[in-house]
Amino acid sequence: MSHRRSLRFSKTTCPICGAKEVARDDHKGDMICTNCGHIIIREETRSTGKFDVAQVLKREGKMDFQSLKKSTGASDASLFTVVQNMMNMGLLQEIMGKYSLTKKGQRWYRQRLGQEWGY
Ligand SMILES: [Zn+2]
Repeated sequence: MSHRRSLRFSKTTCPICGAKEVARDDHKGDMICTNCGHIIIREETRSTGKFDVAQVLKREGKMDFQSLKKSTGASDASLFTVVQNMMNMGLLQEIMGKYSLTKKGQRWYRQRLGQEWGY
């Protein structure tokens, strides 16, 4: 199984050199200016993603919103959105104010982890 690094050009303009040749790295979610090499970290990546939440929960088991927030370093709004998304996808469950991964969520995490390693 091979995972090739896939680059896709985005509509973003490089803030450093102003070039429009900004490619997106689909695996990491970062954007790279192919002209000057500047890496533009996506807003989403800087806040938090489903993978981050899954990783923390995998390690800690159960966590309430506040500790989840502390561990991921996300803002309230972005973490809330991610958590809601994950609950909708059936990856996350909430029991008495504590979040944990469902069986589906653990499978999803392992799958994503495999992709990270194959990178
Ligand atoms: Zn540039």
